Amino acid sequence: MSETPLPQQGPRLREALRGIPAYKPGKPAQGADGAPAYKLSSNENPYPPLPGVLDAAVTAADSFNRYPDMGCGALIAELAEHFGVPEAHIATGTGSVGVAQSLIQATAGPGDEVVYAWRSFEAYPIITQISGATSVRVPLTDGDVHDLDAMLAAVTERTRLIFVCNPNNPTGTAVRRAELERFLDAVPGDVLIVLDEAYREFVRDADVPDGIELYRDRPNVCVLRTFSKAYGLAGLRVGFAIAHEPVAAALRQTAVPFGVSQIAQDAAVASLRAEDELLVRVAGLVEERGRVAGALAAQGWTVPDSQANFVWLRLGERTMDFAAACEAAGVVVRPFAGEGVRVTIGETQANDLFLQAAELFRKQV
Ligand SMILES: *Cc1c(COP(=O)(O)O)cnc(C)c1O
Repeated sequence: MSETPLPQQGPRLREALRGIPAYKPGKPAQGADGAPAYKLSSNENPYPPLPGVLDAAVTAADSFNRYPDMGCGALIAELAEHFGVPEAHIATGTGSVGVAQSLIQATAGPGDEVVYAWRSFEAYPIITQISGATSVRVPLTDGDVHDLDAMLAAVTERTRLIFVCNPNNPTGTAVRRAELERFLDAVPGDVLIVLDEAYREFVRDADVPDGIELYRDRPNVCVLRTFSKAYGLAGLRVGFAIAHEPVAAALRQTAVPFGVSQIAQDAAVASLRAEDELLVRVAGLVEERGRVAGALAAQGWTVPDSQANFVWLRLGERTMDFAAACEAAGVVVRPFAGEGVRVTIGETQANDLFLQAAELFRKQV
């Protein structure tokens, strides 16, 4: 009996997955020869958990043989009260990236378009491509700010979702109320506009609007928030959306069942209840942001106004050299080759090391 071997063929994977850019996590900090090293590459919070949060998490860990509350009931009730929105308008997920992915799944597929600024959050192209939809990238202005007029012009009848990252990762720049309202009101009502406000707590410019005010009378606006940045729960993976009922309901339909652990849910509730301490910490980081930006400007750098917990330096071809120089000085930053470097505001000591490295680099070139 002669057997013709089948051609070597694995499972057939979707064409859409070909060439998806890999998400680049911020490099971990690794000090050489016992030197201190600081990770300023992922916009994390440098502080330990807020009071009560670790206890809540440890208590929840007692029962991790059980599935978590699938509806995240206690967390959603706490969020509803905190933000003054109906519980039915809130949907949670495994980080706000998880929620963003659900939003795309709920709105877009092959043949549809997802519009976002570029450069912006690197998850957008990845989750768009996974869905099979097409990315439409609209370049930032020369000042590294969202170009809302160009984004509006990029809307076609195929557009299903638009991300507005405010403040923008990685540039820290923010769009103001008047221009954003004009944009929201000009986009067709059947296109979902996602205001990604991962850094909202760090905004100090009163002209930068709170998305939660903008969504209230706009059924096609959805606000994304996260516990990963200001709240310091990046490792627990919990974020949420605030949107009108059809959108929030669609998010519940597309969410991974039991995606948010009980540890994350209880820690998030405790974090919301520790808001006073949170605000003190955020104020400290905002002050450091001002100090770092001021020192960089004094060194001669051009620093776009940041409303987030990081600063952006457009270094072009010198980007990777600059990142290497920082690393040698004990701080790991986040380079985007050929474009620039994003530097998280961290502990004072880390910020100082970064400023020294930046000054040295400037004198050398
Ligand atoms: C960090 C970040 C998020 C949050 O991601 P999580 O999944 O909640 O950790 C979302 N959007 C932007 C723009 C971010 O920078």
